[in-house]
Formats: sequence, C-alpha cells, structure tokens
Amino acid sequence: MYELVFLGTGCPNGTKRRGEASIFFDGLLMDCGDECVDKLASLNLINRVDSMLITHLHKDHIADVAALLSLIALNSTELKTINIFSPPGFFKILEEHTNISKILSYFSEKISIELHEGLIKNKCIGGKIISAYEMNHNVEDYGYLIEFDGAKLFYTGDTRKCTIPIKADYVIHDSMSTESEKGIVEDTGHSTAKDAALFAREVDASVLFLTHINDNWISDNNELIDEAKIHFRGEIYVAEDFAGFSLKSKSELHLKLRNEVQDRKKDRV
Ligand SMILES: [Zn+2]
Ligand SMILES: [Zn+2]
Repeated sequence: MYELVFLGTGCPNGTKRRGEASIFFDGLLMDCGDECVDKLASLNLINRVDSMLITHLHKDHIADVAALLSLIALNSTELKTINIFSPPGFFKILEEHTNISKILSYFSEKISIELHEGLIKNKCIGGKIISAYEMNHNVEDYGYLIEFDGAKLFYTGDTRKCTIPIKADYVIHDSMSTESEKGIVEDTGHSTAKDAALFAREVDASVLFLTHINDNWISDNNELIDEAKIHFRGEIYVAEDFAGFSLKSKSELHLKLRNEVQDRKKDRV
C-alpha cells in the first residue's frame, strides 16, 4: 500500500480549515507551503521525506522548504540525500529569501541536496519513476507523473484546464471552485471542479482528488463533487488537511474494478 496524505488543501492563502499546498506520498513531498513542517512533524513524517516535487515558485507552494531542509538535517544521524525537482530558478529564489546555502554548509555532513531543475523525464527515485509536464498557470508550473508498482499518479499543481499526453490511474487536480466562479478562477490560472473532472476523464483515471480549494467560495464539498461527477465516472474525493488514503498498485486496482463489476452483477440477480 502506498500512503497519500494531504497536508495543505487551500488556496490562495492558508485558512484555519485549509492550509497552503503540500501533499506527502510515500517519501515524496509534493509542494511545501506554509505550516507544512508543523504538519509533517505532527504526523512523524519529517524523517520519511526523501524527495520534493515543487510545481512552481508561488509562495503558497514553497514557503516552508528552507525550514524543512534544516529540520531534516538536524534530525539526521548520517548523510541524507534529498532530491528536489522544480522549474528553473527555484534554488536562486530560496537563496534570496533564506540563508539556505549557509544552513546546508553548516550541516554538510548531514544533508546533501540533489537539484533537478527543468522538465525531467523518467527519473528513477526510490523505486518510483518521475516525469514533469508543463501545465497552464500564470507562472511556469510543472505537473508530475509518478509511476509506482505499475500504477500512475499525476499531480497538477496550479493550472487552468489543459491537455497533456499521459494516462494516469490517480489524479490530484487543482479545483479552486466551481463553474459559478469560472471567470476569476481562469484569470488567476486555476481550475473548476468541471475542468478537473474533464482532465481526469481524458487521462482515463480511476480516482480523482480535488485540492487547492478556496474556502471563501466553497463551504460544502458536495458543491465540487456534484459538478465533477457530471463529467467523470470514477471515484471523486475532495481533499481535506490531514486526510489520508492508501493507493493501490495497478493489479490491485484491476482486482477492485473486477470485484465492483461482479458486485453490480450480483445486485441485478
Ligand atoms: Zn500558483
Ligand atoms: Zn497555489
């Protein structure tokens, strides 16, 4: 089983209910917004982070990176390598706003950073294969395809509806609001629940997670689900901070589908 934990599911800034963007998936940290470190610590996950996938350089996706790297270094008993994937310019921004190089040099026997800036393809990290795809936000944003145990998970980061040439079993998609706010959602480079559902359908996904939700507009998760399910027939979940899911391998997913079909047949008898 592969563990997926949503740490921050809000946008554009964190609220009490929904913090800034960050998601933990089996050692990979996808984005690292404000309060990510506190949340990882409260779940005892700090030492399990071995890679970071940064989708883009907006503050709500990178605010806690320096704090997290420092804490990983502080906790390490031996040299730990952290792979960081991001669009170009990430480390320069980090240096401008933090004293990260100084921190890392101080901890040089505890932590080593491998930086992969740009559109990487088929990079093998910890048994998973990672590829980046350009999405459609107001700044350069990478969506990441992660292949694990035969299954594929795709995380969009912030994006308007766009089409990319992949297939994925699981999709985690920006879903700032519903079609009722379409104008402002599109202007700010985000997606509605409908956009997310259409993307999930196009890539043949079985499961769609909606995240990066604006709390001011969406108080009831059913508003998002009701809109998404018109366009996508798979399972749909609205992410909440601290919600955890177990992702299945490709063969387990097939088994589950087969059982569901058999159950439906039984119901008809
Ligand atoms: Zn953004
Ligand atoms: Zn964002």
